[in-house]
Amino acid sequence: MWLYLFIALGLFCSALRIPIMLGKIGINSTRVSLARLDKKQYYCIQNFFVQKNGASIDYVIISRYGIFVIKMSTQKGIIEGTEHSDTWTQQVLKRKRRFANPVKQCKIQAKAIRKLLQTNKIPVIPIVVFGMSAQLKIKVNTHVILANNLLNIIYRYDQEVLTSSEMEKIIKEFNGYTSQKNIRKTRIYNVKDILEERKRLVDADICPKCGNKLVIREGKGRKYKSCSKYPKCKFRHGL
Ligand SMILES: [Zn+2]
Repeated sequence: MWLYLFIALGLFCSALRIPIMLGKIGINSTRVSLARLDKKQYYCIQNFFVQKNGASIDYVIISRYGIFVIKMSTQKGIIEGTEHSDTWTQQVLKRKRRFANPVKQCKIQAKAIRKLLQTNKIPVIPIVVFGMSAQLKIKVNTHVILANNLLNIIYRYDQEVLTSSEMEKIIKEFNGYTSQKNIRKTRIYNVKDILEERKRLVDADICPKCGNKLVIREGKGRKYKSCSKYPKCKFRHGL
């Protein structure tokens, strides 16, 4: 049973070209011809939208069961956090570190996708995926999972909400956004939300880049908020 699951996951990941984080279990991301079969049901766009800082949505999966917005997190160790907190913590051995709440980021991305769709009829499901070396101690309503659980979650949505032609239309549309002309339009949606979230964090003295505290510094007669982890993190915001 497990063997089949792993093989299925391997196929799925290679179909989606998800960088395999399952190395520890020994799965190679070999591309198999079955990949094509999967694509008919689950169409994947990698690195969808360009955001201001160059980041993009890791994976958007379009299916007849809904649209999945997937954010990959590379944090390892014990992960603690809640749905609405600004930052989460990662603990490796005795070292604790904060990082920006990935659920919030993923929800912002899902919201942007909803705006693109211009309808509430189609469910847009945010999923945050951690690698197998993470241990999740989190309290969330959003899907935050380890990589080996991704298939389970996606297959849990089994109610068809789109016809094949509707799905095709969305795929076409979304692929269209990657053209130069439209990329600006999609940027606007996204950047506005991100800037709002960024402003909120800066006001709360939290670095939007890395989640550590912001401190007020002065240089050349000007005051600015800067990351307490400077020079490791170079975030600064003029006052
Ligand atoms: Zn920082």
